[in-house]
Amino acid sequence: MSQSPPDATKAVFARAQLYGDGADAPRRVDLRLGDTLQMFEQGAFRAAWAFADIRRVSRAPGALRIRALTAPPQAWCEISDPAFAAAIEQRCRLLAGDRQEKREARWRIAALATTGVVVIAALVWIVIPALADRLAPLVPVSVEKQIGAAADRQARARFKGGACVSSAGEAALARLVDRLKLLAGVPLDVQVGVLASPVQNAFALPGGRIYLLRGLIESARSPDELAGVLAHEFGHVAHRDSLRAAMKQGGAALAIGLVFGDMFGAGAIAVAARASLSAAYSREAETQADDFAARVLNEAGRPARALGDILKRIAADERSSPLDFLRDHPLTNVRQDRLENESTQATGDPLMSAGDWLALRAICNR
Ligand SMILES: [Zn+2]
Repeated sequence: MSQSPPDATKAVFARAQLYGDGADAPRRVDLRLGDTLQMFEQGAFRAAWAFADIRRVSRAPGALRIRALTAPPQAWCEISDPAFAAAIEQRCRLLAGDRQEKREARWRIAALATTGVVVIAALVWIVIPALADRLAPLVPVSVEKQIGAAADRQARARFKGGACVSSAGEAALARLVDRLKLLAGVPLDVQVGVLASPVQNAFALPGGRIYLLRGLIESARSPDELAGVLAHEFGHVAHRDSLRAAMKQGGAALAIGLVFGDMFGAGAIAVAARASLSAAYSREAETQADDFAARVLNEAGRPARALGDILKRIAADERSSPLDFLRDHPLTNVRQDRLENESTQATGDPLMSAGDWLALRAICNR
């Protein structure tokens, strides 16, 4: 014979249940469920137990014996009305006591941890990348320099040819860089070096270090072209684009490193450094760097279209490796037209002497 489950929702009263206080013989009480469990003895109110305080003492067949944390220690109440017992079980969440409390606490902690992971994931993939442009100016220059130094080590490891160190070539490059820095009209903390790689590329690291690769120098047909590329990189330095790109990719690690200090700082710097080498700049950043370069060349009375010319030639070169200028600097028609439009006639003196140009071209020859 099957028994339908007791209807807990309708059980509000139970007459003649048992109440014991451990001292006297158990008495009959009437129970009522309101905001609390209320007990009446012969019509007179005796006690009210808050649901959160009620614990199960035992569950004998057909009878639920409970106690309350706030009641005298020996007091108990036994409910033999199945529907009322079910109603008690429904309302008293902590009936099973500490074990249940611990279980619920564990669930709460697990839920919190999950929320934490979600929040951190949102920071990593959504918030920090979106805020990178606004956060970048807040990064101290000293931190940017540290990221730059780490990126420098990684870049040198990647381009195994090492730095080109012919003294005549370095002197010629230094003169060109000084000239361009003066023309740029903004204080620029840049250090320019050449790496012996056939790749036709140039890049700026966080902190102002710029590398020209041998392949790029070899494909340059005039000092103007090379100066255009350099000035373009100056633009990236002035706008801290490399740091911005690093923060878009490695910003969360960097933020965590800044919060937790040195313990995670070194790892965060390495992550940000790697990100600065692999992250591509936004189209706006490229346009801004082009405009910067055009301004510098125009200031010198040299044609800005020289930058467009060399980029176009590299773009057409099938030997372009995946690591080259085109990934970070995709040349669009819009960019080229812009450089054309901003270009003026060559009215100024050449940016390099013929001797310096030859020396720079030979900077990687030993
Ligand atoms: Zn660029």
